[in-house]
Amino acid sequence: MGNMLYEGKAKKVFATDNPDEFLVYFKDDATAFNGVKKGTILNKGVLNNKISAFFFNLLAEHGIPHHFVRLVSDREMLVKKLDILAIEVVMRNITAGSLAKRIGWEEGKKLPVPVVELYYKNDDLGDPLINEYHAKAMGLATDEQLKAIQEYGLKINAILSEYLKGKKLELIDFKLEFGLHNGELLLGDEISPDTCRFWDSETGQKLDKDRFRRDLGDVEEAYKEVLFRLTGEKME
Ligand code: UDP
Repeated sequence: MGNMLYEGKAKKVFATDNPDEFLVYFKDDATAFNGVKKGTILNKGVLNNKISAFFFNLLAEHGIPHHFVRLVSDREMLVKKLDILAIEVVMRNITAGSLAKRIGWEEGKKLPVPVVELYYKNDDLGDPLINEYHAKAMGLATDEQLKAIQEYGLKINAILSEYLKGKKLELIDFKLEFGLHNGELLLGDEISPDTCRFWDSETGQKLDKDRFRRDLGDVEEAYKEVLFRLTGEKME
């Protein structure tokens, strides 16, 4: 393994022999509320590594360019090196979390159209909501990149929502990050129960990080259930 380049809340990133690729290691550490709540979700690293790989492969089949190269181990994936844009793209289909609070709608209301939100990726500021004009004025992305990440967001939302419906999972909302690889815009980061809200279509049971955020219990079981529904793999 090469030098560690970066350690985040849920992942570590290492250099590899190939200057075009990084190795991502998924940890069991969990944080919420901008790092105020800390804990561990047993096997989360393994589950999120596998779930993310599954989603990246699914998106590739639908023509979405992304950074995932291949799985290396239970907790590690090889990815293309990205210069990550300091923007988080959040896609929403049903009200939950910060949107429910901000607009004063109860959680669980279907939005008539998918909603795209941009956040400035900055821990010190608590990732504030911004719009395209802020992003452009702050030099976070060009007009062309802003257009592309929002279009990708909508397309990814349509692909994942449709696929997950078939697995009896409702895609409530999720967060995406994008970056540049030799000038090419690629989807990066992870797609997992840490970064998405999944509700069981029939029971409404939450199968995502809200179980940790809200102390609902059975957190590990929920992540395992998502992997099982996607891949049929049962993790002990
Ligand atoms: N999200 C994320 N990272 C963040 C903020 C949000 O992955 O730093 C995801 C979160 O899991 C949810 C969606 O983005 O699926 C919308 O989150 P929201 O704005 O409702 O914030 P929260 O209620 O999670 O604080």
